[in-house]
Amino acid sequence: MLGLEQFDIAHALGSSGGISRQTKVMPYLGGPYEPLILRANQNWQALEKDTKKQVLHRCGYLQLAVNQHLSSDKETEVELLDESTLAHRFPQFQNLPKGTNGLLDYHGGLLRSELAIASNCHVALQRGAHIRAEEPVIDWSADNSGVTITTKRGKYRAKHLVIAAGAWNATILPQLRDELQVTRVSLGWFAPDSAESFTMEHFPTWFHKDYYGFPILPDFPGFKIAKHWYGDPTDPDHITRTPNLADEHLLRHYLERHLPSANGTVLAFKVCMYTHGGPWLDFVPGQKRVTIIAACNGGEFKFSSAYGEALADLATEGKTELPVGFMALQ
Ligand SMILES: Cc1cc2nc3c(=O)[nH]c(=O)nc-3n(C[C@H](O)[C@H](O)[C@H](O)COP(=O)(O)OP(=O)(O)OC[C@H]3O[C@@H](n4cnc5c(N)ncnc54)[C@H](O)[C@@H]3O)c2cc1C
Repeated sequence: MLGLEQFDIAHALGSSGGISRQTKVMPYLGGPYEPLILRANQNWQALEKDTKKQVLHRCGYLQLAVNQHLSSDKETEVELLDESTLAHRFPQFQNLPKGTNGLLDYHGGLLRSELAIASNCHVALQRGAHIRAEEPVIDWSADNSGVTITTKRGKYRAKHLVIAAGAWNATILPQLRDELQVTRVSLGWFAPDSAESFTMEHFPTWFHKDYYGFPILPDFPGFKIAKHWYGDPTDPDHITRTPNLADEHLLRHYLERHLPSANGTVLAFKVCMYTHGGPWLDFVPGQKRVTIIAACNGGEFKFSSAYGEALADLATEGKTELPVGFMALQ
């Protein structure tokens, strides 16, 4: 196995940077993603066992909205917090619209995305894989017996090619150019009045009115918040990576109203990319030796350990038992 990366391992220039990603189970129960989230969580735990590093923190996931209901089949994993319980348990939230309640998913929390990528590379290297960073792929071609990959350093021959280029997928596979739209999004870390009340012991990951956030991690200061939105269309090679005041105002807009005690000074800001379109995990049409994963639209990191398993199955066996048929590339 050969893995090729144009930048460094666990860089922050693509779609996985910014230290953490939310994970949750509740919204997927009973749908096509249920087996994938369950498998993904097993795989994250297996990774932790191999590396002795924690990547999955089940600090809970809190969904805030008006008049939410809890279906009886989810009662064992999820707690419905009515208005007064919500105010008592999480007084950090202020000025919530009347009728706002919370669904607290105890299986949710956060994944350390950059650590997870580094950990996977670590294990892959230990198991004999070759990983080459700072080596962009420039071109590829496939024939009946295999694929040829051209990079800035040379050529490689392999039995199968997996394209997992995130926001650059359409560069590698130009026929997807009209289907994929890359947008610029920003992530901010702010200093709360009391850091203690925003640690993982006291505060979950959460989602409310298109905004979402994370508790403070033990080894990185600041309360992380972002807006789940489409952002400005961009190009991954020409994106404005420097955060600006408009990025900050967008996040402060929520903090001022609903989380005033977290509306402190900026401690970090990062720019990241969504890619709208997909999600797809499939053979490239007309190619039996090339597969692609295009799952970069804002909520897919949590599944990536299952997606990786499915892609490995397809590359080595030509099929997978994981139910990814709904991600077929039409
Ligand atoms: C701001 C933001 C917040 C998000 N929040 C969540 C969340 O809370 N929960 C969740 O589950 N998901 C979330 N997501 C989605 C999730 O992070 C992405 O779906 C996931 O990280 C995408 O991973 P990827 O491997 O497809 O892309 P990337 O991590 O960008 O990896 C693609 C890699 O391909 C490399 N590459 C590209 N072209 C070449 C080439 N020619 N040669 C060699 N290497 C190349 C790139 O350098 C890059 O390292 C979020 C995404 C963003 C942007």
